[in-house]
Amino acid sequence: MTKAEKLDEIAKRVTKCTRCDLYKRATKAVPGDGNPEAEVIFLGEGPGYHEDLQGLPFVGAAGQLLDQLLQSIKLKRNDIFIGNVIKHRPPDNRDPLPEEIEACRPFLDEQIQIIAPKMIITLGRFSLNKFLPNEKISQIHGRARYVDFLGRRYMVMPMYHPAAALRSGRIMEEIKEDFQKVSLLLEEKPKLETEKAKEENQQMKLIE
Ligand code: URA
Repeated sequence: MTKAEKLDEIAKRVTKCTRCDLYKRATKAVPGDGNPEAEVIFLGEGPGYHEDLQGLPFVGAAGQLLDQLLQSIKLKRNDIFIGNVIKHRPPDNRDPLPEEIEACRPFLDEQIQIIAPKMIITLGRFSLNKFLPNEKISQIHGRARYVDFLGRRYMVMPMYHPAAALRSGRIMEEIKEDFQKVSLLLEEKPKLETEKAKEENQQMKLIE
């Protein structure tokens, strides 16, 4: 099976998923969308109103800002893959519950393993805490680091959620600055060794 076929197969399972109760009030599942060969995965929290209606990630106001931010670093939606920690909309856009995140986790883990991107850009605290459970976004946004996850090394770049940037001028400036670092980091040579993570993270500090 190609990567695209494998992702389609996951998407089909997501649309039928009843592992938690969120599907009951959702219109459409939002499995994720984009290039199966992407070097970068953007990872949000969960579908909102517009995403729930369309079955696609980041198509509302936060999505429009994401498009502008992508454009600012010459990336297009079909260069990347966009996913979410949970795939059905929580009622009234409330925060996802730990058991909902856990129920959805196997889908996301499989998507990440299939795409095997170089970089994962976490948008907001729920996707950040998947990889770095004890970190605060206000403290580490814009500072990429290597994380070993399910047997592979990924560069994880924590960013604020675009919805937070729409609410705060300061966060808007910060997210714009953080995006500018992405192109530079993507030019880094892939690190294939399994040891040396600390050394690499040390080197990355030079780019912060
Ligand atoms: N916010 C998210 O976290 N994900 C979406 O898909 C849309 C808005």
